[in-house]
Amino acid sequence: MREFLIAGNWKMNGSNAANRELVSGIAAGVPAGSGFSLLVCPPYPYLAAVGSALEGSPVKLGAQNVSEHESGAFTGEVAPAMLKDMGCDYVIVGHSERRAMYGESSFQVAAKFQAAQAAGLTPIVCVGETLEEREDGSTESVVDFQLNAVFDAAGIGAFASAVVAYEPVWAIGTGKTATPEQAQEVHRHIRGRLAALDAGIAENVQILYGGSMKGENAAGLLAMPDIDGGLIGGASLKADDFLAIAAAAAQG
Ligand code: PEP
Repeated sequence: MREFLIAGNWKMNGSNAANRELVSGIAAGVPAGSGFSLLVCPPYPYLAAVGSALEGSPVKLGAQNVSEHESGAFTGEVAPAMLKDMGCDYVIVGHSERRAMYGESSFQVAAKFQAAQAAGLTPIVCVGETLEEREDGSTESVVDFQLNAVFDAAGIGAFASAVVAYEPVWAIGTGKTATPEQAQEVHRHIRGRLAALDAGIAENVQILYGGSMKGENAAGLLAMPDIDGGLIGGASLKADDFLAIAAAAAQG
């Protein structure tokens, strides 16, 4: 039985003071119950402080990006082992903002996925189509291409300890959410791709939806059979908004 994972991607937002308020609000309001877990992914400089603030709470810590290299002369980069050292359990790889703004290819994303796993982190690999790609009918082929790069590099076995996030680019930060049916269609496709390689792994992999998920639409999305949680941007920056999504997962 898959649990829900509700993951907050804070992106390049926050300050020590704002984070303290956000984390204490989240930690104080974690819904009772089981069958879900919560994760926050602050910017790198705040990992230590947020990690300390989360001590004693069930909320997990993750990062938003990672280098594909282990160590060495890579100025400005952060190694997977460093994230592990800071108490991270998860790391997001291949967010569409990294792909679009920083030119990350699917092959580089696959290398980051592998490097993260080698350091004991669970990668959350993001895939998703742009509006143009959806409109020209290539959603599935785009998602397949992005996933194939990871299958080819890491093998299907690697998905036993990985998370997939389907994030239609047109829904990220735009207020336009995929309908539960639109999202489910792609989630089912993704699980089918995994199942063609290993049915057992496919059954257990968490596939998160990301794209303007909020308290008002979370229950409908999470009710879909192949949606196992959310990767949340904007609504992860206010404790009440994030907790409203967590509450939907707790009731799910
Ligand atoms: C994201 O950045 O992963 C995201 C889903 O953002 P938002 O929730 O703001 O659309």
